[in-house]
Amino acid sequence: VQTIGILTSGGDAPGMNAALRAVARTAWARGIDVKGIYRGYSGLLNDEIFDMEKEFTCDIISRGGTALFTARCEEFKQLEYQEKAAEILRSHNIDGLVVIGGDGSFRGAQKLSAQGINTVALPGTIDLDIACTEYTIGFDTAVNTAMQAIDKIRDSSTSHERCSIIEVMGRNAGYIALWCGIASGAEDILIPERFDGNRPKLENELIESILEKKALGKKHHLIINAEGVGHSYGMAKRIEQATGVETRASILGHMQRGGNPTAKDRVYASYMGALAVDLLCSGATNRVVGYRNGQYIDYDIEDALGMAKDVDQYEFEIAQILGR
Ligand code: ATP
Repeated sequence: VQTIGILTSGGDAPGMNAALRAVARTAWARGIDVKGIYRGYSGLLNDEIFDMEKEFTCDIISRGGTALFTARCEEFKQLEYQEKAAEILRSHNIDGLVVIGGDGSFRGAQKLSAQGINTVALPGTIDLDIACTEYTIGFDTAVNTAMQAIDKIRDSSTSHERCSIIEVMGRNAGYIALWCGIASGAEDILIPERFDGNRPKLENELIESILEKKALGKKHHLIINAEGVGHSYGMAKRIEQATGVETRASILGHMQRGGNPTAKDRVYASYMGALAVDLLCSGATNRVVGYRNGQYIDYDIEDALGMAKDVDQYEFEIAQILGR
């Protein structure tokens, strides 16, 4: 490889900066030039490509977000735009590309690989919703950020002897909710993986749980609700009506995506960034880096996208036991 391009795509995640810094610095150490591509595939199609200098990678490891900005780009799903993007990359002599993003972004990388550009993707998403890996860049920070917010709500919830429903991010995955639920000692945790779509049944179970725990003398009742289950405000209203316990909903929102990355996110992202470069140096293409059983590994993108993932049943059961 002579020149590596780097882009970040899809939703941003804390630790993306550490990853792109590691890609650039590892590449330079291997004698490879580095080009930055702004705004994901959209910036690539607009030729927003620049020679990355060392300075660009300074002072970013501790910052959330992505210094390369990120975007979504619908038209990139069409072949003609993928061909155009490959041409643009070639015009900049970019013969290796590192894409940092979620599984949508992996598909884009796969398409560029089919156009003859060697690509390696890194899992950058707070949601942990990528099947081939036990870790994604940004998850640890997002969980810690949400947990700290929940701790604050918990204090107030106890003082007022309230029920609080706190909705956390995660798209269609419940990992952030499960982790936050265990970490903050929540009484109930709602995740899409264990929700059958029957809202009245779910709410009846919660009402029962609140009344039962109130009878036991609990001073508050924390419900961590995943974005994929949603409807927190309506749920709060109906629960309050049915139980007579004051119930408030808080949707944490975009604060969960920002903030300084934790040590874990910085360190894992750094190793993954370095590995992406070394994979490209070994001639690999169409790969995605993951972390499994204590090791950084890589998969064919097609194989990775074909894998399925579910919340561990034992972990979910324990989370419920601990909330009793
Ligand atoms: P997050 O999980 O944070 O949302 P993501 O990478 O999954 O991240 P998407 O919006 O799904 O986010 O995808 C990001 C971009 O990847 C899209 O805007 C599009 O440019 C590209 N992309 C997604 N799917 C495809 C596809 N099938 N073919 C080509 N490009 C794609």
